[in-house]
Amino acid sequence: MRVRTLIIGAGAAGMFCAANAGPDVLIVDHAKKPGEKIRISGGGRCNFTNLDLKASNYISRNPHFAKSALARYTPWDFIGLVSGHGIAWHEKTLGQLFCDDSAKDIIAMLQSEMDNAGAKLMLETSVEAIEYDGSHYTVILLRGGRQTVCKAEKLVIATGGKSIPKMGATGFAYKVAEQFGLSLTDTRPALVPFTFSDNRFAAISGIATPVTARADQGPAFAEAMLCTHRGLSGPAMLQVSSYWQEGEDIHIDLAPTTKVTDALKQARKDSPRKSMTTALGKFLPARLVDLLKDELSVTGNCAEWSDARIDTLARALSNWSVKPTGTEGYRTAEVTLGGIDTDGLSSQTMEAKNAPGLYFIGESVDVTGWLGGYNFQWAWASAHAAGQSIA
Ligand code: FAD
Repeated sequence: MRVRTLIIGAGAAGMFCAANAGPDVLIVDHAKKPGEKIRISGGGRCNFTNLDLKASNYISRNPHFAKSALARYTPWDFIGLVSGHGIAWHEKTLGQLFCDDSAKDIIAMLQSEMDNAGAKLMLETSVEAIEYDGSHYTVILLRGGRQTVCKAEKLVIATGGKSIPKMGATGFAYKVAEQFGLSLTDTRPALVPFTFSDNRFAAISGIATPVTARADQGPAFAEAMLCTHRGLSGPAMLQVSSYWQEGEDIHIDLAPTTKVTDALKQARKDSPRKSMTTALGKFLPARLVDLLKDELSVTGNCAEWSDARIDTLARALSNWSVKPTGTEGYRTAEVTLGGIDTDGLSSQTMEAKNAPGLYFIGESVDVTGWLGGYNFQWAWASAHAAGQSIA
């Protein structure tokens, strides 16, 4: 079989590239259905982009690499496409756009765009080997126990990262990169919940509270924290996980919108006989206060608290440090941090500098977005850059 362009991986990036790469495109995937991660994304509603997009929303060894593709295919370009397909959407919070109805609408939209472009999709197809003879890529495909040899001028690798192996993530792109002499940066799970071996949060699992949280390095995130059976999750913790290193503390302001010192002094004045735990319960979940009261020595009535003791407690609450044992790992990580070193790729086209006609797009590349639609926007933008160059 001969095609002009073969795309491996029918996820977000691969499908969008297939729709934009001009004529004679074959896209293959080993899964039974395309776009499975889109289907489960954003709680089933797909947070497909973010209105407030900046280069600083991405982590990469080269923070400039993603700028060109992101500038040439913007959130508004994708919104235009979504709206053009009659898909209703809304902004939930912090510029995050979700489908009103179902993430499946985005998959159907991508399939229809691929159909319009004449791209062919082959599912339940794996790749046995790839060779390059200086002008063509020869790819041995395996489907239903039968081998097919496919010759292509352009080969696009869109097989994502290592997150959620149960959904077909393989790290395949990294092997292809190594075969063609591209370097990799270290990879690790990101946008992933933290675990604590002492299960200290199990008793209050389900409790959520707004916090501002940060790792030793990286920005602070003002979002919700969720206590779970195994540790800490919620958007704030997922964001911090992308910057956290094994062995470090996480620093959490538990009451970022309350002037804690003022609030507690006022409580002492208004209700001196009330317990300090009750006073804290005005701006923190009561069960979280229960969990913290021994660690922070919260005892007695408000009247018993001196100014200095209130100040100390307020400081402790605004910089509460915890040391996770680890994370839930690739089993639940939304993305893989790191990947194919951008040094080996053109930021204009995503083409490998030392292998003409070979492209890497989406999550396989060392460009990792924050939580909030940034990862899909990278998938669309990198796919568009490669697609335009191929077309
Ligand atoms: P993928 O979407 O992972 O697609 C890769 C494709 O390649 C898959 O279809 C896979 O089957 C196929 N494949 C892999 N290996 C092989 C192989 N060896 N042979 C053949 N095919 C192969 N991001 C957001 O921006 N917003 C969200 O709301 C959001 N929610 C998420 C929720 C969850 C639970 C998860 C796990 C992720 C979420 N993400 C979200 C991240 C987002 O899904 C990814 O960043 C995005 O899917 C990456 O697109 P991709 O095309 O590069 O890779």
